[in-house]
Amino acid sequence: MPQSVLKATSENIKKMKSVYAHHLTDTLPPGALFQAKIPGCTITAYQSGKVLFQGQKAEAEASQFSHLKVAETKSEKIPTATKYSPPSGIASMSVIGSDEVGTGDYFGPITVCAAYVDSSQLALIKELGVKDSKGLKDPQIINMAKDLIKTIPFSLLVLRNEKYNTMQEKGMSQGKMKALLHNQVITSVLEKLDGKPEAILIDQFAEPGIYFKHLAGKKIIRERTYFSTKAEGIHLSVAAASIIARYAFLIEMDKLSKEAGFDIPKGAGSHVDKAAAKLIKLHGEDALRQFTKLHFANTQKAKKWL
Ligand code: MN
Repeated sequence: MPQSVLKATSENIKKMKSVYAHHLTDTLPPGALFQAKIPGCTITAYQSGKVLFQGQKAEAEASQFSHLKVAETKSEKIPTATKYSPPSGIASMSVIGSDEVGTGDYFGPITVCAAYVDSSQLALIKELGVKDSKGLKDPQIINMAKDLIKTIPFSLLVLRNEKYNTMQEKGMSQGKMKALLHNQVITSVLEKLDGKPEAILIDQFAEPGIYFKHLAGKKIIRERTYFSTKAEGIHLSVAAASIIARYAFLIEMDKLSKEAGFDIPKGAGSHVDKAAAKLIKLHGEDALRQFTKLHFANTQKAKKWL
């Protein structure tokens, strides 16, 4: 269930209580100052100053109190089992998994991969050493990816920054770009298979509802499609997809380094600002368009180094 948490002074809690005067409940949970129920949201204020909004309208309901200048507001999404949660036993099923790389890197493209691992190939894939790519070093990624692309059906898309920047400037969010790319690679892996997979597992980057909203008007597969964060640890197909996507990202970064004439760094930290400044000095500001995600704060920070 969506929820929002707000921290309020006791005076503000009194104001909030008066807003909900006609919706107060008769009984209170332990430690509560008041509780109110309106359609789509339950509001509970605690002695600790915490005010909890729970339900579909939690966020909207909480936002109307932003003017109260409370100490701090934060929204938290508590993962709950939904129809999009991977079913138990998925680890041993035949699954298409998808994952992306490069969304947080200032330099380099976004690479998205979907890969299919049949249940009969799980042991083999495990033997190749496939696991969470975050724990793997670049040379291991490269070796494993080379094995994987010969072994399993997959589809890979590389969104280079020239195109990324154009889409971004037209108002497309990174979330929507990712949704379109995931959907595209999953669809093309499906086309390569004879039968249907038992499940499709997407390494979650957005709430499923938002993911499907981004894909309005596209051909989408909803049945047996599941979402999970850290999905690399849930099915080897996602781990394999992640390794192939990382491999493609490394190749692209290599190409960019050759074009730039120096090593192009990953990430978005201050070392990246300096590299961007170096790029501008060597190749002019226009080069950023091809090399970087222009809307990142790094663009402005780089100019301070000039
Ligand atoms: Mn991911």
